[in-house]
Amino acid sequence: MTEKFDVIVIGGGPGGYVAAIRAAQLGLNTACIDMNTGKDGKAALGGTCLNVGCIPSKALLDSSKHYHHLQHSYAAHGINVTDASIDIGTMISRKDAVVSKLTGGVAQLFKANKVKQFHGRGRLLADRQVEFTPHASSEKIMLEAENIILAAGSVPIAIPNVEYDNEYIIDNAGVLDLTEVPPRLGVIGAGVIGLELGSVWQRLGSKVTLLEALPSFLPTADEDISKQAGRLFKRQGLDIRLGTLVKSASVANGEVKVTLEDKNGESEISFDRLLVAVGRKPYTKGLLSDDSGVEINGRGQINVNDQSQTNVVGVWAVGDCVRGPMLAHKASEEGIAVAELIAGKAAHIHFDTVPWVIYTDPEIAWVGKTEQQLKEEGVAYRAGSFPFAGTGRGLAMGDAAGMVKMLADEDTDEVLGVHIIGPSASELIAECVVTMEFHGASEDLARIVHAHPTLSEAVHEAALHVDKRAIHRGN
Ligand code: FAD
Ligand code: AMP
Repeated sequence: MTEKFDVIVIGGGPGGYVAAIRAAQLGLNTACIDMNTGKDGKAALGGTCLNVGCIPSKALLDSSKHYHHLQHSYAAHGINVTDASIDIGTMISRKDAVVSKLTGGVAQLFKANKVKQFHGRGRLLADRQVEFTPHASSEKIMLEAENIILAAGSVPIAIPNVEYDNEYIIDNAGVLDLTEVPPRLGVIGAGVIGLELGSVWQRLGSKVTLLEALPSFLPTADEDISKQAGRLFKRQGLDIRLGTLVKSASVANGEVKVTLEDKNGESEISFDRLLVAVGRKPYTKGLLSDDSGVEINGRGQINVNDQSQTNVVGVWAVGDCVRGPMLAHKASEEGIAVAELIAGKAAHIHFDTVPWVIYTDPEIAWVGKTEQQLKEEGVAYRAGSFPFAGTGRGLAMGDAAGMVKMLADEDTDEVLGVHIIGPSASELIAECVVTMEFHGASEDLARIVHAHPTLSEAVHEAALHVDKRAIHRGN
């Protein structure tokens, strides 16, 4: 017999589980199918983000930051520690505990909201029928709903001639579970994931080399920010080699030999472990039957319109498996919007104000346009900036590297982009997102009272500096 729902969500990551909860809140009878299994062998909701992405990477970034500060920063505060050591097993167990608390929390939220959870694979058939194959048995169960939300997420990209063996050549999941600090860690790709996970092991003692094919560093960030980031990361000991294309990698005698090509031609370099972090691709394997009718584009993404509708009526898709940035908060907001549209409400997402964050030290965060984009588009703008070294709070914390840069329309003064590198950039960006959502001007930010002493004063001063009236810097 076919079990019927108002909404079936396939995928329980931040796109899918949030969509399911919101649909249930709106009174819709909702099911969520997710196939992920945790380390304990049980269903673990939360997708890539909670299990092998955002959360575990931040847990390790925080642990490794404490260890790094213990060794390098505390002496300046008069705190002297001898014989500091790190127990990798404890660090990884703490990370696992954070992950299971959160994945268990999502299961609790499902119960509280009466979302029916199915642990196994979901496959969309024609006419909004869904075939569910439980992990526990091979028997197939038929489900059906008025609306289906596809939220199948993404998986790491593999590159030719570099085969994952999950021991020496690893992806983001593998590098989150290393049992010891590799003396030499190679990272292919100096993007967000490579930088964050490379930083973790570099702080713990690895010599980390990032091999990046592109000639420029962090090209999607504002150039002033990426230049400063490149300098700071180099000073920290990250060896970032731009214009370096990895051609192949092989494992022999307990190490990974990588063949690369740069301006000097081909050469070889060896590592103890190699992290492949060259990006992610939508995961739609086994998700759609041939007669489901759902279109996939040339980039492997499920085709959707601005409202996340696929070409099949009643079938929606959100998150990493569709167009747009592969970010958890983007996936979740799409999930909420789709649930609300299904329930007959109005919903809309402003992709232009999705914030980006890189959780390195210092953190990098931005929203809106970069200066190079405004130049390319011929938009007349004014720029303001302020260094954290000019804030009392940054200096008191001993964490004052970096700056805030603000770009505003020359005529209307509307904020067009804000770019931050510095302490708590991930939190400071929220105020800038709000300003942009409300089409606020730099003048608005300049006139808002910011508490003293806080890091947010750097945002305030950057806004004042757009109009060349910053107080604590030359204009
Ligand atoms: P996913 O989280 O990938 O979830 C999809 C789920 O669907 C998975 O559980 C999968 O098993 C399941 N599934 C797939 N197909 C089926 C099927 N047929 N049947 C049943 N289940 C299925 N983003 C941020 O915003 N901030 C960060 O700090 C951040 N850090 C990251 C760090 C790392 C190391 C990585 C890898 C990613 C990071 N991301 C971060 C990206 C973020 O994890 C993704 O953008 C987000 O998880 C996408 O959510 P999603 O719901 O679309 O897909
Ligand atoms: P991101 O998309 O932010 O995860 O970053 C992935 C990075 O990996 C990009 O900057 C790519 O240029 C880089 N990359 C992809 N393939 C290779 C390769 N074969 N060698 C070196 N870098 C690569």
